[in-house]
Amino acid sequence: MGPENKDATFLQIQDVVKDFGGFKAVNHVSLDVAKGEIFALLGSSGCGKSTLLRMLAGFEKPTSGRIVLAGRDLATLPPYERPMNMMFQSYALFPHLTVWDNIAFGLRREGMPKARIAERVEAMLKLVQLERFAQRKPHQLSGGQQQRVALARSLAKQPQLLLLDEPLGALDKKLREQTQIELVNIIESVGVTCVMVTHDQEEAMTMASRIAIMSEGRFLQVGAPSEIYETPTSRFVADFIGNVNLMDGSVIVDEPDHVVIDCADCKHYVGHGITGTKGMAVSVALRPEKIHLSRRKPADEFNSVAGTIKELSYFGSFTVYHVQLASGAMLKVSLANIQRHRDDEFTWGDMVWAHWSRTAPVVLTQ
Ligand code: ATP
Repeated sequence: MGPENKDATFLQIQDVVKDFGGFKAVNHVSLDVAKGEIFALLGSSGCGKSTLLRMLAGFEKPTSGRIVLAGRDLATLPPYERPMNMMFQSYALFPHLTVWDNIAFGLRREGMPKARIAERVEAMLKLVQLERFAQRKPHQLSGGQQQRVALARSLAKQPQLLLLDEPLGALDKKLREQTQIELVNIIESVGVTCVMVTHDQEEAMTMASRIAIMSEGRFLQVGAPSEIYETPTSRFVADFIGNVNLMDGSVIVDEPDHVVIDCADCKHYVGHGITGTKGMAVSVALRPEKIHLSRRKPADEFNSVAGTIKELSYFGSFTVYHVQLASGAMLKVSLANIQRHRDDEFTWGDMVWAHWSRTAPVVLTQ
């Protein structure tokens, strides 16, 4: 592929189905991935993300549909002939080989000349900053370092497509956060296109340029992390990504520039991009951090509700308050702890008013 069409679609998944004896693990999925993109398949256990990744790798054959990489239909290519590499959660490093030999392994099998192998391995060690550890065995490395060796080994053959299966699943939380950024930097510096599978939303949000939310073999929504978080198109996605308050209601005002949604505890005035019809049943999604608390009744009759703080969870940088509303429903409100001590801190049993802006609610019809 020439530089002139660098941003063109590189990987195309066209209406792909994988049927296991009548059960569709992947159900009519289509997707275009651009060159250099890091794309994440995100979903809970059993949603079909691994099956889709395995079809890309060639370990499974689609029942129907096509997978095209750089203009080439992959159907006839066995896994070892595909210009891609898969990195597994367990790293699958050879325990008896040094870091150097682990990285060289695939190149030797390809019959690459010795001098070129050495050049390539050195370049990879430099890329993942493990030059000093070249002669160590995997068990003499930390989890994060083993992870980087696995990445170096996956990239050694210069694959066109890198497949990552739960890449950081084996690392603890703190190391995972640090490694996520390292991994993205390395992947971006080589410019390889990447499809990763994860059930960890933070991992997908931090690493991927776009995410597909999968459920029951289908894509529910595909978009940039911020798009999925701020503009979910269904209750499932709103609830799956991050924390959310979901309220059921119906449209009682439907004007070109706004709608009003009547819910059990409050009325939402929503001033952006809604096409509804009066009387239509909808849900309103409201993120906890978009809500403010005050002790006084807000002037606006819309987008506010009274309640009592029943619970609070302190997370250091923010606190989540559970506010019980008149209907008995709980509203989650997250406030940033920007001061060390406040005289007027909210606490258990306080009567409060929760309020939010006209751009905060997202109206969902499905
Ligand atoms: P996890 O995160 O647990 O790995 P997943 O989203 O990756 O889940 P898949 O492994 O793709 O899910 O499986 C999707 C569905 O297809 C599951 O219900 C699984 O039981 C089923 N499945 C996967 N492989 C096979 C197979 N070889 N034969 C029959 N059913 C299968």
